[in-house]
Amino acid sequence: MASEFELIARHFIRPVRHTQLGGGDDCALFIPRPGMALLVSTDMLVAGIHFFADTDPWGLGWKAAAVNLSDIAAMGGCPRWMTLALALPQAEEAWVAPFAEGFAACCAAFDTDWVGGDTTRGPLTLCPTVFGEIPTGQAIRRDGARAGDLLWVSGQPGRAALGLWHLQGHVTLPEPAPCLAALHTPQPRVALGRALRGIAHAMLDVSDGLLGDLAHMLKASGVGAVLEDAALPLAALRVTGVAEDRLRAALLSGGDDYELLFAAPPAQTAALAALANTLDLPLTRIGRLEAQAGLWLEDAQGARTPLAAQGFDHFVTPTR
Ligand code: ADP
Ligand code: MG
Repeated sequence: MASEFELIARHFIRPVRHTQLGGGDDCALFIPRPGMALLVSTDMLVAGIHFFADTDPWGLGWKAAAVNLSDIAAMGGCPRWMTLALALPQAEEAWVAPFAEGFAACCAAFDTDWVGGDTTRGPLTLCPTVFGEIPTGQAIRRDGARAGDLLWVSGQPGRAALGLWHLQGHVTLPEPAPCLAALHTPQPRVALGRALRGIAHAMLDVSDGLLGDLAHMLKASGVGAVLEDAALPLAALRVTGVAEDRLRAALLSGGDDYELLFAAPPAQTAALAALANTLDLPLTRIGRLEAQAGLWLEDAQGARTPLAAQGFDHFVTPTR
């Protein structure tokens, strides 16, 4: 069995592009570009809580990097550097090699240097930290939404939850591949996030479910929201043959999609349509923001029902 140092040297020390000094010394050394603020985020993944311990290691590596990159995307930033703190039950190279390849592949796909980390024995736990750059003053925070803004979401939220339910046997998808891909190899919306600088007033990534994450934006911004049922992007989910209620639940409350949810003034609607075209990524206007606090679902006749903000909360929702 390989020693800790052999594993690190073989799999975790990678070539770098934006970095003075990468893995191998006591610290990595990097120099942010002039005029840039640093964005820093950590997102930890624990076996048995965030993923099944027998998950394909390449996909797990990809996902561990992707969920962290998504946080940089959600601020409008440009990811640049990543570290990985890792607890492993054993130094099993047949697992570590593809895991490291998946992690490195996702970093490389988003032009991010894997510059260091820490490796220890313990229950399988992955703790990446990502560093990104953003021109000073341009970060898109969650507290900037205003009454009158329209609410948009990228891509196809709900797919990851359907993929998980399929694996758990709660639903049977005729063609599970797109939903399983959304679950296992999410694509952080880095290009979209950057393009929304100067367009979106507020933004976050949907990691714990659209409603729950939206509630964070509403609270931070001091506004309320009306979601329009007819505008929800359910059409593409209908091909799964799953009952409409469950599709709506997957879209509104399912976690793990890593799409971007953002508020933008109505005057940006044409710019957003053009952007969706350029990026070849659907952007759907799902509702609007109001001065009055609250969260509502509005039907085609204009009748409103209050929506509970059911996101995923580790201390409330049972472990998935
Ligand atoms: P130190 O004791 O000085 O902290 P370590 O033995 O923990 O050094 O790590 C040696 C080098 O290997 C460091 O440069 C560190 O960044 C790198 N390293 C260790 N674990 C990882 C990992 N999981 N991913 C990337 N680099 C790692
Ligand atoms: Mg160390």
